[in-house]
Amino acid sequence: MQKIEHIGIAVKDIEKSNELFSKLFGKSPYKSESVESEGVTTSFFKVGPNKIELLEATNPDSPIAKFIAKKGEGIHHIAIAVDDIIAEIKRMKSEGFIVLNEIPKKGADNKLVAFLHPKATNGVLIELCQEISH
Ligand code: ZN
Repeated sequence: MQKIEHIGIAVKDIEKSNELFSKLFGKSPYKSESVESEGVTTSFFKVGPNKIELLEATNPDSPIAKFIAKKGEGIHHIAIAVDDIIAEIKRMKSEGFIVLNEIPKKGADNKLVAFLHPKATNGVLIELCQEISH
């Protein structure tokens, strides 16, 4: 594990939330990106060495839409940067965590990602992510 890569926040209206968080951080998001496979539109803010990701659902079946319906807007996941996501998935499974993506998938911000089910992590959705090298 390298560091906390970013914190993901589920929002209903990413345009409004971009304005809100731009005021909060004193700067605009450095990128916006849609991830079709996840049914989300995302935007990323840099806050010193840290990043915040906003996520808006693009369809009612999106995990973000379901999260907001259940819990409302708010912190959705914590992402941890790893060097070798395949090795970490194996390690997590052997430690008894529930890995939702046995095969990592392409996420936002040029990352391979895999999620751990919150059921086995004190209710916190954990995203493992590895930078895709060019
Ligand atoms: Zn994320």
